[in-house]
Amino acid sequence: HTFSKAPRPAPANPLGEAATAASGTAPVHRTESPRLRHMASNENPLGIGPMAMAAARDCLAGLAAYPDPSGAPLKAALARRFGLAAEGLVIGNGSSELIDLVTRSFVVKGDEVVYSQYSFIGYPHAVKSAGGASIVVPARDYGHDLDAMLSAVTPRTRVAFVANPNNPTGTLLEEAAIVRFLEAMPARVLVVLDEAYTEYLPEAARMNAFALLKRFPNLVVMRTFSKAHGMAGLRVGFAAASAEVAQLMNRARLAYNVNAPAQAAAIAALDDAAFLQRSYEVNEAGKRRLSAALGELGIPFIPSWGNFVAADFSGITGGPEGVNAYLQSRGLLVRPLGPYGLPTHLRFTIGLPDDNEALVAALADYLKR
Ligand code: PMP
Repeated sequence: HTFSKAPRPAPANPLGEAATAASGTAPVHRTESPRLRHMASNENPLGIGPMAMAAARDCLAGLAAYPDPSGAPLKAALARRFGLAAEGLVIGNGSSELIDLVTRSFVVKGDEVVYSQYSFIGYPHAVKSAGGASIVVPARDYGHDLDAMLSAVTPRTRVAFVANPNNPTGTLLEEAAIVRFLEAMPARVLVVLDEAYTEYLPEAARMNAFALLKRFPNLVVMRTFSKAHGMAGLRVGFAAASAEVAQLMNRARLAYNVNAPAQAAAIAALDDAAFLQRSYEVNEAGKRRLSAALGELGIPFIPSWGNFVAADFSGITGGPEGVNAYLQSRGLLVRPLGPYGLPTHLRFTIGLPDDNEALVAALADYLKR
């Protein structure tokens, strides 16, 4: 999960000075140590998109006013953009809050929640805080084993979480497999399809999960503005569900849970197709480069559909701890996956070309030592 240790400047922006100036954050130059490269939390190395930034800034003069309590303008924009019914939408302080809202709304003590081994770390936290029991289903090839997840369903099961693409492994499920899963799942079990990384998928690999909502009233689709939209610090996500499910979640939701600049930025981000495309392309190129380099260095990695790659350092002298310590000494901050049950893996968020080259060079130097 993302724990910011210290205030830090906005990620360097290759759009140039205009974009840097528009971010309002003067670049910080430190001569005593190399600049830190944040490749741990799957943030967008481009920063926030220019249209979202402009909308957030426009909001700053009006900060004495409460935001819209239920995010009605944002929900209207989402409904327009994705062809959804506004009654089926819930906005959250990041999708993290929506995950928590689902368990708080539908899980009581003794209830069970099914999800895969090596899946997002927010699920166990949310289940635990609701007093539920996590049923963690062994993964297959680092991805979700949907048949095994179905077999794990009992009369006490209330929710199943499916992250697609999955974090931290980057695995992807095909639409047909998800549809079969929904068809076989008892209607009383909510299926949460967490699409935090969906914008990083190539067109051909994308599914329209929203289109399944009419057919499956127990489906909840979650999206976030934290990743491809570059807005992790603003905290906005949304869930699309049946009107009934959304109403129950909205009842548990605090009014004003998403602040005004975040709502305004999210509305603007929906129209910034150019920025999304650039985020996708920078990620694709960086992921191709990093994956090829890992292959050449003989470091096994899990092919990823996200904006990150998890690599296995079990066979390498010093193991993941040694590698991570060395990367830190070179200013590269990456994510050890021990808390995710992958103690020999490190996860690398794809950065700007310069970041990726620095990581590749550091890994090569480590192996040469
Ligand atoms: N789901 C998945 C799969 C994630 O990886 C993350 C962030 N790491 C989230 C949800 C939560 O993101 P946010 O709360 O920033 O929307």
